Amino acid sequence: MTGAALIRDGELELAGDNTYDLPTVPIWHRGRIGLIGDAVHAPAPSSGQGASMALEDAVGMASSLAGADTQAGFRAFEQTRRQRVEKIVAMGARASSSKTPRGRAACSMTPPCG
Ligand SMILES: Cc1cc2nc3c(=O)[nH]c(=O)nc-3n(C[C@H](O)[C@H](O)[C@H](O)COP(=O)(O)OP(=O)(O)OC[C@H]3O[C@@H](n4cnc5c(N)ncnc54)[C@H](O)[C@@H]3O)c2cc1C
Repeated sequence: MTGAALIRDGELELAGDNTYDLPTVPIWHRGRIGLIGDAVHAPAPSSGQGASMALEDAVGMASSLAGADTQAGFRAFEQTRRQRVEKIVAMGARASSSKTPRGRAACSMTPPCG
């Protein structure tokens, strides 16, 4: 089947979503709970970075906690990761903004927009 035939015979499916970046999260740990992945730095899905950063976090958190006091491990993890992940989320947001549909039709699918 040719590309033209696929377009002619196919169905047009458009989907909107309301996902948002988490550019900065002030608290990464409290008591015995430490957060990693999207919980502390969710990037735009279209940036294609979230899964890699979550995996990096898992390795980073494990090595920060290895043999360390838990609080010291959490602090070390945040210290080594925060700058990098926030930079990547910001870069992802810039890159993704060019992929975001604009105009009235797009607004009606992905409210709120301005
Ligand atoms: C539409 C879309 C497309 C994406 N495309 C890409 C891509 O191309 N490349 C890329 O790298 N990233 C992509 N991402 C981002 C990527 O999926 C996330 O960054 C990544 O999954 C984050 O991993 P995580 O482990 O931090 O969180 P999650 O994968 O969200 O894992 C959290 C888990 O915790 C569970 N959970 C939540 N609350 C509770 C609870 N109370 N008790 C027990 N379990 C709970 C959830 O069910 C979930 O399984 C995309 C995201 C979306 C939404």
